[in-house]
Amino acid sequence: MRLVNRIAALVVLLSAVSAGSSDSNSILIKGGTVVAFNQETQGLRVIRGGSVLVENDRITGVFDGAPSRVPKGAEIFDAKGKIITPGFIDTHRHGWQTVFKTIGSNTTLIEFFFRYSSLVAPFFWNASDVYDSQLAGLYEALNAGVTTSLDHATHTWSKDAADAGFQASIDSGARVLWAFSFANITDVVTVEQQYPIFRALAKKPGLKNSPTTLAIAYDAWGPNPNVAEIDKIMALAREVNVSAITTHSLQGPWGSDNSPEDIHALNYLNISIPIVFSHASFLSATGRDLLRSTNQYISITPESEMHYGQTHPVSSLIQDQASLGVDTHMTFSTDILTQARIWLQQTRYERYLDVLEQTKLPKTNPMSAEQAFLLATRSGALALRRPDLGAIFTGAKADLLVWDGDSPPLLGWDDPVAAVILHASVGDIEAVIVDGKWAKKGGKLISKGYPEARKKFLSTAKRLQEVWRGLPLPELPPVWNGHPVVDPERVDVKRGEGDGYGSVYI
Ligand SMILES: [Zn+2]
Repeated sequence: MRLVNRIAALVVLLSAVSAGSSDSNSILIKGGTVVAFNQETQGLRVIRGGSVLVENDRITGVFDGAPSRVPKGAEIFDAKGKIITPGFIDTHRHGWQTVFKTIGSNTTLIEFFFRYSSLVAPFFWNASDVYDSQLAGLYEALNAGVTTSLDHATHTWSKDAADAGFQASIDSGARVLWAFSFANITDVVTVEQQYPIFRALAKKPGLKNSPTTLAIAYDAWGPNPNVAEIDKIMALAREVNVSAITTHSLQGPWGSDNSPEDIHALNYLNISIPIVFSHASFLSATGRDLLRSTNQYISITPESEMHYGQTHPVSSLIQDQASLGVDTHMTFSTDILTQARIWLQQTRYERYLDVLEQTKLPKTNPMSAEQAFLLATRSGALALRRPDLGAIFTGAKADLLVWDGDSPPLLGWDDPVAAVILHASVGDIEAVIVDGKWAKKGGKLISKGYPEARKKFLSTAKRLQEVWRGLPLPELPPVWNGHPVVDPERVDVKRGEGDGYGSVYI
């Protein structure tokens, strides 16, 4: 906690310095309901009729009433009747896959590997496809109020493809921790070949003036790790000072561990770089203790874990070291709001079931809307060790959302947290600010590059979807990680003959 306070104090100091600059770009969001953050309690503080002052990339004032000062030339945004929240934080994403949108609606995890992953895509995609797909995906996320994402970038199969996705992240204006995936892909690329590609990306000139940073993704920590390879990657992580490290961690019948125990055994868990374990579906009690003692986090991706079947049987036991992620938004929602809502109700369901199974009845509600809100915002910042994100307070980065309080779902709201978490849709996000700059205003994306990106994406998506339509469905292995691969019982939604499963359109 003390370290967090010290960093926050430094952030305030830095913001005070930047606020003094003569060419300051300032916005005053005035007279709205602000879901601010109390650093003392590390909880929310709702201010009605409040204002937020943004100067350059920072929040430089949060006011209970009228602001005590307004910089000359500040843009005044009237927020009467509106709700102001921090932007959402997504700690697990594969943005490059946007072009596959809607063509994997009924896919499973094993089918995904053999049909949509980086095992297959490099044979059909060129670098500009990666660029178009990543950029359109990030605009989609910005539109949905996701201002920060940790992107597990598995499109690093060539220098050009890696560069394209990284450049698209920079060009989007979003805050992306773009995690270069080190992976040996048969007939495509080796980790040895990736080292120089990674080094070159770390020197990319556009990085200096962008909220996007370089991170690392790696999925071969254990069992049976290649220690020499890991030592080399970790030396690079330190040399380049990456913003985060991330890994897919499943365990249980899924295998491919990458557990906290695996990384701890290699002496790399207790380090100053944040490590985010996506899913961590079958995290052990020891793994949970390790995360707490080293302050590392998991990324629960509720919709993905339901869609593909990774599941999350123990994730509610580690919500104090958890954040929320989306995963492959090609198959479902790209927004963290949906993830927060699904996770809230899933957790309530599980905890209620514990009581019902003892033939008792629940007296209180086991998880609050406020807890879901914190998971979707502040917990993501803590997972990434960015105390200046995911919250509204003086000195924080200016990543903000303005919600239309008069929209049909929000009309008549009183509790702004409940309004957002349980009633709103992303269509109610009227404005988005990232790093002090408008990305969405008047309900529309206003980024300069969006019209062109949209056009290019449409033609790329059409072409690649056509290619995938022509690919035969993969033969799945009968056994995976020692476990038979079988059909679950299919549900029946149709009376009489047939079950209503319908067409698989690709
Ligand atoms: Zn993933």
